[in-house]
Amino acid sequence: MAVVSMSAGGQAGRRRLYHVVSTLDFGREDVERLMDKAEQLRTESRERLRRRLEGAVVASLFYEPSTRTRLSFEAAVTRLGGRTLGAENARENSSAKKGESLADVFRVVGCYADAIVVRHHETDEIARALPVSPVPVINAGAGSGEHPTQALLDVYTIRRELGQVDDLSVCVIGDLKYGRTVHSLLRTLAYFRGVRVTLVYPQSLGLPDGLRAELAATGLIIRRETDFRQALRSADVIYQTRIQRERLLDPAEAREAEAFHILPEHLADLQPHARILHPLPRVSEIHPAVDDDERAAYFRQAENGLYMRMALLDDILGGVER
Ligand code: ASP
Repeated sequence: MAVVSMSAGGQAGRRRLYHVVSTLDFGREDVERLMDKAEQLRTESRERLRRRLEGAVVASLFYEPSTRTRLSFEAAVTRLGGRTLGAENARENSSAKKGESLADVFRVVGCYADAIVVRHHETDEIARALPVSPVPVINAGAGSGEHPTQALLDVYTIRRELGQVDDLSVCVIGDLKYGRTVHSLLRTLAYFRGVRVTLVYPQSLGLPDGLRAELAATGLIIRRETDFRQALRSADVIYQTRIQRERLLDPAEAREAEAFHILPEHLADLQPHARILHPLPRVSEIHPAVDDDERAAYFRQAENGLYMRMALLDDILGGVER
């Protein structure tokens, strides 16, 4: 686990995270600390917030498209008083186009910035380049692998909406094969007690075998449900996802997923306290008429991303001498 214990900001021995490339880089205790911090930061004055990362420079390198992740990270750095250096569309607009490796980019950008936030199209590239980075690296989405900061904000949203994460029934729908947010969320839910997961997915888009085995070994209770409406009825949390068309080998794989779209008529099936989450962007898997229902939590979830990313950056960089 990439956690170092150090004395910072007058808090002797406080734990803080360093690299956050996989959900395995944090544990339950870290998740709880970050959720508490996110909650605290949403009430802190703009002026106090600005002192937390004063003088810090954070590079944001996006080799794949992004809206929420990139902008919420950049907003988080700015609100905390730091500055961002950016390469948006880095696959085209950076030296990646000339064939430069990510490892070389980390070596160089690590001389300009105090931390690197990076999204990459290759699943293992960030982890491969990590050992040479002179500064902390935060994975903002790695191919069809992991998206650990999304999992943090997802779990934070569940706690904010329902008051707890333990003992909930979570129904995850859609592209479980390529959906990196699903992989990170399930790994993070495994840190909690008594969570029951129901999976609803097209036959060819189930969890990768390795992940399924890994999760089974953690004791997380997982089962498949083929009756979509029954799955909706029994869930406390419904986590809907987009089919990752850009990663599909055969677009026909996506067609089966249409049976799992959440439509206004499904709202009557949901428990009164249930919540619908979605990492966004939404395409057609949640009908827009669902948005006005109080149980649709996905836009609040996107807002929570700002506070969770502020908490994470403060955890990694706050109180560090610069
Ligand atoms: N925004 C999320 C991601 O980057 C979810 C998605 O694209 O479907 O993985």
